[in-house]
Amino acid sequence: MTAWDATAAQRSGVPVLAAGHVWLAGAGPGDPGLLTLDALAGLQQADVIVHDALVDQRVLALAGKDARLEFAGKRGGKPSATQADISQRLVALARSGQRVLRLKGGDPFVFGRGGEEAMALAAAGIPFRVIPGVTAGLAALAAASIPATLRGINRAVIFAAGHGADEEAFDWAPLARTGQPIVLYMVMHNLDRIAAALLAAGLAPQTPAAVIAAAATPKERVLISTLARVAADARARKFEPPAIVTIGEIVNFRARLLAAGCCRRRRKATEVRARGLIVAAPHSGAGKTTVTLALLAALARRGVMVRAAKAGPDYIDPAFHAAVTGRPSVNLDSWAMSKGLMDALAAQAADGADLFVIEGVMGLFDGAAAAHGRRGATADLAAHFNLPVVLVLDVARQAQSAAAVVRGFAGHDPAVRVAGVILNRVASERHGALIADALAPLEIPVLGMLPREAALTLSERHLGLVQAGEHADLAALIERLAAMAERHFDLDAIAACAAPFGGPLVARDDKALPPPGQRIALASDKSFSFVYAHVIDAWRAAGAEILPFSPLADEPPPESADSCWLPGGYPELHADALAAARRFSTSLRRFAETRPVHGECGGYMVLGESLEDAAGHRHAMTGLLSHATSFARRRLHLGYRSALLLSNGPFGRAGAIVRGHEFHYASLVSTGRDEPFADISDAEGRALEKTGGQRGYVSGTFFHAIAAAGG
Ligand code: SAH
Repeated sequence: MTAWDATAAQRSGVPVLAAGHVWLAGAGPGDPGLLTLDALAGLQQADVIVHDALVDQRVLALAGKDARLEFAGKRGGKPSATQADISQRLVALARSGQRVLRLKGGDPFVFGRGGEEAMALAAAGIPFRVIPGVTAGLAALAAASIPATLRGINRAVIFAAGHGADEEAFDWAPLARTGQPIVLYMVMHNLDRIAAALLAAGLAPQTPAAVIAAAATPKERVLISTLARVAADARARKFEPPAIVTIGEIVNFRARLLAAGCCRRRRKATEVRARGLIVAAPHSGAGKTTVTLALLAALARRGVMVRAAKAGPDYIDPAFHAAVTGRPSVNLDSWAMSKGLMDALAAQAADGADLFVIEGVMGLFDGAAAAHGRRGATADLAAHFNLPVVLVLDVARQAQSAAAVVRGFAGHDPAVRVAGVILNRVASERHGALIADALAPLEIPVLGMLPREAALTLSERHLGLVQAGEHADLAALIERLAAMAERHFDLDAIAACAAPFGGPLVARDDKALPPPGQRIALASDKSFSFVYAHVIDAWRAAGAEILPFSPLADEPPPESADSCWLPGGYPELHADALAAARRFSTSLRRFAETRPVHGECGGYMVLGESLEDAAGHRHAMTGLLSHATSFARRRLHLGYRSALLLSNGPFGRAGAIVRGHEFHYASLVSTGRDEPFADISDAEGRALEKTGGQRGYVSGTFFHAIAAAGG
C-alpha cells in the first residue's frame, strides 16, 4: 500500500484534481511530514508538478510515478523564468487538459508571489484551488523550539519580508515600536541594514534574535544571538538562505523548552552555542600555554563557562586545560583526524560552554607538508571552524618590529583571521607603548601585555611541561594565572573577539579508534599518563569499560579485564620502581598468556627486556617482547606517522591504517626477535622502517594512535 492508498483509505471525500484544473499548493518547508493531506492528494494525482527551489526533494519523491516535474523558480538568485512566464505556463498547461499541481515552498500565499499566480489564473478563467502549507516562519520557530506567541509576552507576531521591490521605501520604525516579535523572511542579504534600522528605532541591542536556516531539512541550523550581533554572527557562521530570522523575547523561551525536554528532531549537524577563539603564536615558546591557562582561569573565575582544546598531538597541555576548566580538554588534529571526527570532538567539547578556546601548536602555520586543511597546523583549525586567532607575541627582543610580524601573520592566509594580539615579556611601559603605536595602523587590537617579570614560567622537562598531576600547588598556580590575566589582559575585549563556529559541525566519529576489548585494564599513574581523552571516550562510547591500575604501585591488571593497555608516559623517570614492581610484571606476563596486551611508546618500553635510564643504568622490564630501549642515547623522534597494521590487533585488522604520531627521546638499542607491528610512513607518506613488535597476544610500538585513517 502506498502512502497515498493508506491516506485515502482513511479519508472520505478526498479532493479530486480534475483535468484542466490547477491546484496552488504549499509544500511546507523541508520535511514531508509538514505537507497537508490535500497537497499529498495533489502530488499523487497531478500530470504535471510545477515546483520551485524551496520544495524539498523528499516531497517531490511523493509524486505519482507518471507525473512530470517542471522546475519554475530561481537559480543562483536570478529568476530563470519571470513571474508572468510562470503564470502563463500554468494557464497553458491547464488549457491543454493537464492536471496541474503548482507546488510552492511553505505556504502559497505567504510571500513568494502565489497571490499573483492566483490572480493570473482567475483572470484566464482557469479553475483552481488553493491548498495552504505550513509557512517557513512558523515551521522554523517550531523547529527551533521558539513559541510564536506566548500569553503575557506578545499579542502579535509580525511576518515581514527582508527584501522586496519596495525595500528602500519601507519604514521599519513602526514595526519596532510595537515591541512585538518580528519574523523576517528573505532577509539574509539585508540583515545588517534591517537590524540597524530596528536598533535606530529603539529596540534594545540585547533583544534576543535567532536565525533558523534550512528549517525542517537535514541541513537545519540555529543561531541564537542578539539584535546587535545577529548580522555579524550569521555572517561569521556562514548562515545562508533560506533562513528565518526572529527578533524578540520569544527567542528566550527556547532554552527553557529545550531544558524541559522539548525534543528536537535528530539531525546530523550539531549546533554549538559556544563562541570560540584560537590562541596561537608565531613560534613555539612564545607563551601560548601560559596565556591560554591564564585566560581560561580568569574567565572561569568570572563565571564564564570555559572549555578548551589543544591543536595537534599533545598529552600535557590538555591536562592543564582540564585542571582549569574542570572539564576534559580534547585534541583536535587536522592531520590525523577526519573532519567529521574533529567536528564531533569539538561539538562535544564545546557543548554547554560560553567560550571555547583552542590552544595552537608551534607556529600558527606550522605543520606537515600536506594539503591545506590536513597539515595538522593551527591555521587549519582556524579555517575549518572559522574561528579568530589571538596571536601571542614574545617581544622580549624586539619592539616596533613586532608590528611587521603581526602584519605578516594577519595577511598570510585569507582563511585565517588574526583578531588581536597579546604581548608577552614586555620590558617596560615604554616598550609596550612603542609596540602598541606600531600596531595601531593595523587595526588589530592589543588585548594584553604581560610584563616580563609577571609571566609565570611553567616548569618543563624533556617532553613538555611538568604534568598537571605532578604540581602539588596546582590550585595556587591556577589562582596566580587568573590574577595575572585580570591584571594584564583586557578580558572583555578577548571574550568579545570570540566568534560562533563557522560551519555546521557535521559530527561523524566513525574514524575513532575501536576499543581493544570490552573490559580494558588501563595502566594509569605518573609513569603511564599519555592518554588521549578522545580515545578513551570513544572506547567508552563503544561500550567498553575502563579499569585503571597502577604498575608503579605494583598493582596487577584487574583480573576481570579482557585486555590490557599500557599508554606512554615517563617510564625512564621511574625505571627503578617499575623494575622492582614484581607483582605487576608477573601478573602481566600471566595475563598476556590468554589476553591481549598493548603498549604505546613508554608502555612499549616497559614491554621490552630492559630500559637504560639517563644515567646509563640498565633496568629489567617485563620482557613480554624482546627489544631493549635506552634513554641514555637520547635522540628526538618526532612527527606524524601512519601505521599500516601487519596483523590483526588492538587497532583493527591487518591492512588497516591508523594515524598517529611519535614523540620520544628514547631509542631502541636492540630490535629483538619479534614480528614487527606495523609498516609506518611519515606525514608526507614516505615509508619508514617497520615499527614495534608483536608476539602472541602482546604488541607494542613507539607509535601513539590518534584515529583511524580516512575521511
Ligand atoms: N512561501 C514561503 C516563503 C517564500 S519566500 C513560505 O510560506 O514559507 C522565501 C523565504 O522563505 C526564504 O528566503 C526564507 O526566508 C523562507 N524559507 C523558506 N523555506 C525555508 C526553510 N526551510 N527554512 C528557513 N526559511 C525558509
